[in-house]
Amino acid sequence: MLGLMQDTPLTLSSLLDHAARFHGEVEIVSKDPGGLTRSNYAQVAKRARKLAAALRRRGLKEGDRVASLALNTIRHLELYYGVTGAGGILNTVNPRLFPEQILFILRHAENRMVFFDPAFGKLLEPLAAQAPNVETYVCLSSVQEMPDLLLPNLVCYEDLMDVEAEGAWTPVSENAGAILCYTSGTTGDPKGVLYSHRSLVLHAFIATSADGMAVSRRDSILLVTPLFHVNAWGIPFSAAMCGAKLVLPGAAVDGESLFNLMRAERCTFSLGVPTVWLGFLDYVATHREELDLSGLALERILVGGSAAPRSLIERFDYMLGVYVIHAWGMTETSPLATVGTPLPEHAFLDRQARYDIQALQGRAIYGVDLRIVDADGAPTPHDGVAVGDLQVRGPWVVQRYFKGEAPATTEDGWFPTGDVAKIHPNGYLQLTDRSKDVIKSGGEWISSVDLENAAIAHPDVREAAVIGVPHPKWQERPLLIIVPTPESMPNKAEILQFLASRVARWQVPDDVVIVDALPHTATGKLLKSKLRETYRSYLDEATEPA
Ligand code: ADP
Repeated sequence: MLGLMQDTPLTLSSLLDHAARFHGEVEIVSKDPGGLTRSNYAQVAKRARKLAAALRRRGLKEGDRVASLALNTIRHLELYYGVTGAGGILNTVNPRLFPEQILFILRHAENRMVFFDPAFGKLLEPLAAQAPNVETYVCLSSVQEMPDLLLPNLVCYEDLMDVEAEGAWTPVSENAGAILCYTSGTTGDPKGVLYSHRSLVLHAFIATSADGMAVSRRDSILLVTPLFHVNAWGIPFSAAMCGAKLVLPGAAVDGESLFNLMRAERCTFSLGVPTVWLGFLDYVATHREELDLSGLALERILVGGSAAPRSLIERFDYMLGVYVIHAWGMTETSPLATVGTPLPEHAFLDRQARYDIQALQGRAIYGVDLRIVDADGAPTPHDGVAVGDLQVRGPWVVQRYFKGEAPATTEDGWFPTGDVAKIHPNGYLQLTDRSKDVIKSGGEWISSVDLENAAIAHPDVREAAVIGVPHPKWQERPLLIIVPTPESMPNKAEILQFLASRVARWQVPDDVVIVDALPHTATGKLLKSKLRETYRSYLDEATEPA
């Protein structure tokens, strides 16, 4: 016989077992309503095993779905391992979705149990009667913290934990489903993406690699990305793989709370969407004089979910000396697909040129193959000029949506992302738009993202959205909608002039609308469909573009 390697299944429980054995004392800290809770990998492993035993005793079978409606807390982390360690599938539901969407997900996934933070109990009450598939509701709290709720078979989490002895993990195949996430569904019903144990472990390997997120034992990670959002970008698994310290902020994701937690827990790495970081930077900028920045151990942050504005990358560098790693991905890609770690030649660039590179969406990591195609589906060159529809494939890219009848991929196995992009000769991906957000003016495409980036560089603009609005002659023209920075008085003509010096003349928006706030989805992305609806008739009186 030829020698062969052992066929050890790549399961999530193996990650936690490793962390408990070799990094057992490494801390896991969470900010709960009553203050900080401190645990470690050994304790989390112990409690997750208890939970697995409790779930089995309650009749959970392999492949059964269990929902969570919870923020970043230790109990939620225990669910990640306890449910999947009992052979179940954890369906992490975003509590900020509309109640109808939450109900849709609870029913579509056929969840048998729902674990929820006390704060979300009231949200569930009116839904329970319409989700008869849910047999048990478990409040993620101690008995003392349990609110009065009208929910069928309501159990307290700590009660569940109290009575059970530690159990063994249910043996599962590495290809079994582990976690189920639904896309935010800005159009149509949410769609479920089911990750397998294997896909999540492979994804964790790449996250710990130097050109992935470089997560290591030396890190203390402030996990701002919610545990209900694409597995918190895989951090619960990559952190366990290498024994990194985990800091979970609970509900406190405002700039001040993040700063204080980051400093107190000596966080070296953090992750989140741009909106969170804008709030954080504004706080630091406003309180600069009184803050002790020398106490900050932060080295790098990973930004994704929406484009990281160049100004954000720049401010992190000059205010705090923190490197922004810009990454692109989506629910359908687990999510890590491209990461913006620098190439050797970038070491010699001046700062401004380096920020330009960092503002791109990064390069493909092993496991995710990508290409751009034209309207006929033919691949276009990676020359940094051709723009096309972005397609991806790989072992942690969706094949078929949960209960989907047709494959989610093209006939030749590529997943169409709905993003429009260029790929540069050195492999850097540059997103130019969502396919539905591209503005088509007189037969030419205008990138809403380019215009937003240009607008946000203006000192009076805090947030910008550019949408295409119907125009009698040009089919569509760009309209810029901005939220001003605090205490600024933006002048529309001056902003348009500012843009004219940065983009082609025919791309300059027809007008600027100043608003107090822009609509966002539950995951913090601009809700452009809403804006398009609101401003549909804006240019009815329009004249030809300048
Ligand atoms: P997530 O928000 O976790 O990335 P979603 O599935 O909700 O996952 O959204 C994915 C979409 O978000 C992508 O298709 C893309 O349009 C947008 N997106 C994600 N990362 C970036 C990025 N770095 N730059 C621009 N857009 C991004």
